[in-house]
Amino acid sequence: MTTDDSILTYPFAEPPVYGETLEVAQGVYWLRMPLPMSLKYINLYLLEGDKGWTIVDTGIRGDETRDYWNEIFETSLKGKPVTQIICTHMHPDHTGQAGFLSNRWRAPLLMSYSEYHQARVMTSLMQDDVSWQMTEYFERAGIDPNFLEKMRETRSQFAPEPEDLPLPGSFTRLTDGDQVQVGGHSWEVITGTGHSPEHVCLYNRKLKVLLSGDQVLPVITSNVSVMPTEPFGNPMLGWMHSHEKFRESIPNDTLVLPAHNDPFYGLHERLQQLIDHHEDRMLILEENCVEPQVAIDLLPFLFKRDLEEHSLFMGLGECIAHLHCLMSHSRIERTLVDNRYMYRSIDPTLTERARPGHHEEPDDAPIMV
Ligand SMILES: [Zn+2]
Repeated sequence: MTTDDSILTYPFAEPPVYGETLEVAQGVYWLRMPLPMSLKYINLYLLEGDKGWTIVDTGIRGDETRDYWNEIFETSLKGKPVTQIICTHMHPDHTGQAGFLSNRWRAPLLMSYSEYHQARVMTSLMQDDVSWQMTEYFERAGIDPNFLEKMRETRSQFAPEPEDLPLPGSFTRLTDGDQVQVGGHSWEVITGTGHSPEHVCLYNRKLKVLLSGDQVLPVITSNVSVMPTEPFGNPMLGWMHSHEKFRESIPNDTLVLPAHNDPFYGLHERLQQLIDHHEDRMLILEENCVEPQVAIDLLPFLFKRDLEEHSLFMGLGECIAHLHCLMSHSRIERTLVDNRYMYRSIDPTLTERARPGHHEEPDDAPIMV
């Protein structure tokens, strides 16, 4: 989704060009790396310490990003080494160069426990044969079994290449509430969940800066999906709780440095927009489940475009994530009929809450981050 972002402000007129850095707060440098997806780029950050640099997120695998890193090492490090690498979460645009960077500098990787291990099993998940659990997940969502064969073909393009260095063989665990010291600065680890299981954000109370990764983005909404590997998960509930947690623990005059779009002010407004957006999506689903529905038939209410292959996979995951959140609030019930889950609205207050024709536009297509 894209939002009317008029209540957010963006303090930097121009982003740094690839291979260069831009200081956005004392000792905090913003850089960009290209991405092959429609999103085009990711924001990464360098934190300057007395004895060396901390890298926050690494960019996607491949030579192009690696070449830009080498350019930055030559021109932007003021003669100091990289001493630690932090990945906010497991996704390949954040972890893709972690192995290269860790080997290049013999620098430790810092991640949360769940994200490190999830990243390590991602490879095997992409190479797994189609399991009965995966077949069941799609069948119960109302999807033609042939879809799985198509997915197998597209899945392989996301699998790591043999020449990629794997994620480092060890890591240092980051946990909610930890303090990471960089030079004279203390960065507090604040974890969120929903987009990924234990996403690390770094908050510097003195500088009033939040490195938010994909946990809070100003324009797009991160993907929050139920996956076949955890078909009864409820990531949307965690996502909504995380927004409330961030609003309570971080002041609104904080400069937010996200992994996509631009740095911004207006954290609390943005968190409220995200909460409202998902509440709106959930109400749309409730309104359209007065008669029982299968998940696949609900996608047109959430997305403008006909979805195929990977975007169908992501869109379906998001749809089910909203449905599971509604189930946990006793607003939807799910019944298995002929091996398909039928979702039906059961909250008696729906008639008062419903506002058909007054919803946000459907999203164009699911966002791939
Ligand atoms: Zn992500």
